[in-house]
Amino acid sequence: MINKEKLSLLLSELKSVSDLEIYKKTSDLKRFSKDFFEYSPILIDELKDCLADIVVRPLSVDSIMLVAQICHKYSTPLTLRGAGTGNYGQCVPLNGGVVMVMTGMRKIRKFDLKSGEITVESGCLLRDINDELIAHGRQLRLLPSTWRSASIGGFIAGGSGGIGSVRWGFLRDPGHLQALEIITTENSPRKLKLNANDSEALNHAYGTNGIITALTITTAPYLKWQQIVVDCSDWNKAVELLNKFNCSAIDLYLGTLLENEIVNCLPHWSGKPSGKHRILLLVAPDGVSTIERLSRSVGADFYNLGPENLKAGTGLRELSWNHTTLHMRGIDSDWTYLQMLLPQPESEMMRKLKSEWGSNLLWHLECVRQNGVQRLASLPLVKWQGEEAINHLISQCKELGAVIFNPHTITVEDGGLGVVDSDQVQAKSNFDPKGILNPGKLKGWNIKAN
Ligand SMILES: Cc1cc2nc3c(=O)[nH]c(=O)nc-3n(C[C@H](O)[C@H](O)[C@H](O)COP(=O)(O)OP(=O)(O)OC[C@H]3O[C@@H](n4cnc5c(N)ncnc54)[C@H](O)[C@@H]3O)c2cc1C
Repeated sequence: MINKEKLSLLLSELKSVSDLEIYKKTSDLKRFSKDFFEYSPILIDELKDCLADIVVRPLSVDSIMLVAQICHKYSTPLTLRGAGTGNYGQCVPLNGGVVMVMTGMRKIRKFDLKSGEITVESGCLLRDINDELIAHGRQLRLLPSTWRSASIGGFIAGGSGGIGSVRWGFLRDPGHLQALEIITTENSPRKLKLNANDSEALNHAYGTNGIITALTITTAPYLKWQQIVVDCSDWNKAVELLNKFNCSAIDLYLGTLLENEIVNCLPHWSGKPSGKHRILLLVAPDGVSTIERLSRSVGADFYNLGPENLKAGTGLRELSWNHTTLHMRGIDSDWTYLQMLLPQPESEMMRKLKSEWGSNLLWHLECVRQNGVQRLASLPLVKWQGEEAINHLISQCKELGAVIFNPHTITVEDGGLGVVDSDQVQAKSNFDPKGILNPGKLKGWNIKAN
């Protein structure tokens, strides 16, 4: 928390900035100091009392530059927020200060007909960008399952992948983010244009090393994705089939496999539960017959739900990735989750853990491309039995060969591969020398500062 005297000085300077909305009501401070960290009971304990002192919402790049300058002058923490759908408290202000909500920055600046690249302001919703792209015969390559509500700035700074990862890998893979426009937090903030190379250090850095005001990303040709559901009574057969789809010569946008106990808890859009395990697919029209043939050849049930209706909000994509967790928590909030890349072959590891954890561990798999190779990732549902139990499960997964991306931690590094990225830390030195941006979230900087 900022002391009263400093707060009133800060506030009076912020009030002089045009194009800036200011929120001071406790209800607003609370609302804008939270994200979806409640999926982790560990993070609830850690973050529940964190509160901004002031919330601002800029409507222009100039006003962002002034906020950066004022926060720098008063050495006040400045935490950026998109739509606040992150899961690890990425936009929660650990030490109070100013939370800057970026959703007023929503212009689509440019679509390049030749390359298909699009340049947008960071507060643009992914849904709006996708609508714009479809009008040009293109679409987003990667989308979180929150694509209707999440901002592109928040996705780049806080997300990792999702729908499209089966074909396009993850956000940090070279080729997605082509350029950034950023504002630095210095005595005289600078507006910089970073090329693809220099942008890498700000990609998935939780807004700790620069304020993203606009970005250029690559896109894919538009395809009318067909929704397919495949039910399979045997789990190992279902995993084998999913792997087959993942590696076939078909264009997939989504490949999700859910254990039957999860299917029982989902909304009705994927069809009635059949007591079987369920594969959800988004596939190009010319891949449907292959999916049907491969499914029938192993005795699985095949259902063609037809093309997606993106206006409806009740498609298979809203049952995938962390939306599966959302629906399960809607039934019972004792469900939490893990995130991991499964070892190959996958079945033995899953069998071993299932035999120990029983129905307290439900498998949810997603097809992904990792370093150019088709793999299976997992976001298993885990019944909360305390911190010790989840840490034990994490250790078991690692021992059995999984790579864990821990969703129960608050730093960039601990939620990733656990290692400090010196380029991210260097970018923070260059663009945020006082360390006021989202303090506490970049471990490499914390180590350097102490
Ligand atoms: C039900 C559910 C499903 C989800 N599914 C997925 C999924 O499929 N894939 C996935 O990757 N994630 C997923 N997430 C997490 C989250 O939705 C995504 O990361 C989303 O893209 C975050 O966008 P946002 O606008 O809400 O960002 P926020 O949560 O507001 O912010 C995320 C991070 O970005 C920073 N930030 C925001 N704007 C800027 C800016 N302009 N400049 C610099 N830093 C900035 C913030 O400080 C914060 O650290 C899911 C979450 C939920 C609750």
